[in-house]
Amino acid sequence: MNKREFLKSSALLGAGITAGFTQINLGSVGGVNFTPPSLDEPGEYLLPVLPYDYNALEPYIDEATMKLHHDVHHAGYVKGLNNATKKVAEAMDSGDFSLIKHWERELAFHGAGHFLHNMFWKNMGPTPGIRSNTLEKYLTKSFGSFERFATLFKQATTSVEGSGWGILAFQPDGDRLVVLQAEKHQNQTQWVTIPILVCDVWEHAYYLKYQSKRADYITAFMKVVNWDAVSENLERAIK
Ligand code: MN
Repeated sequence: MNKREFLKSSALLGAGITAGFTQINLGSVGGVNFTPPSLDEPGEYLLPVLPYDYNALEPYIDEATMKLHHDVHHAGYVKGLNNATKKVAEAMDSGDFSLIKHWERELAFHGAGHFLHNMFWKNMGPTPGIRSNTLEKYLTKSFGSFERFATLFKQATTSVEGSGWGILAFQPDGDRLVVLQAEKHQNQTQWVTIPILVCDVWEHAYYLKYQSKRADYITAFMKVVNWDAVSENLERAIK
């Protein structure tokens, strides 16, 4: 079974089994509505449906922000990523690379935006979950304690210059976790690291409710982190 056939067969499993991964199709994959984001295909990236209601994170993150953020902003990254992917393919087909710098920039911007938001929605949730033994072990090994990590994460994320992200990532070379800042979605990257928890600090993520009080938003974000998801992300990263 190739990837496309797998996508189609998993679509047939139906909403009851895979509702958590239900996706809105913005690409050209006709009829495929029930696939996890990891099965996105180049040029056919999909906007995932939120794994909870728009108002599920109230009062920490408000319904209006969630709706706008997911339905408008994330959808825009998906559309931009699909378009850039097609334009890069067209350049390869035609041999005309005169605009490749532009389209590679678009690919990085929208691609990083799409994949970070995929993780962002899932690393939040209405119930906090629990940190696995492995996650706890890595947090302690890397930062001294969970509390010391949480302080660093909040300080680093608060001080991202302009729009961007705070990121907790697994760094394979050192077999440890690191806290990083990303400006926009794609700048200041450490290429080999694997993000396991991300916090969006673009103004669209908090401005309706928190205005200039980014730190208050991050404090609220920390209350809606889904540690089950973060633990799973770490398990996947260290494999
Ligand atoms: Mn965002």
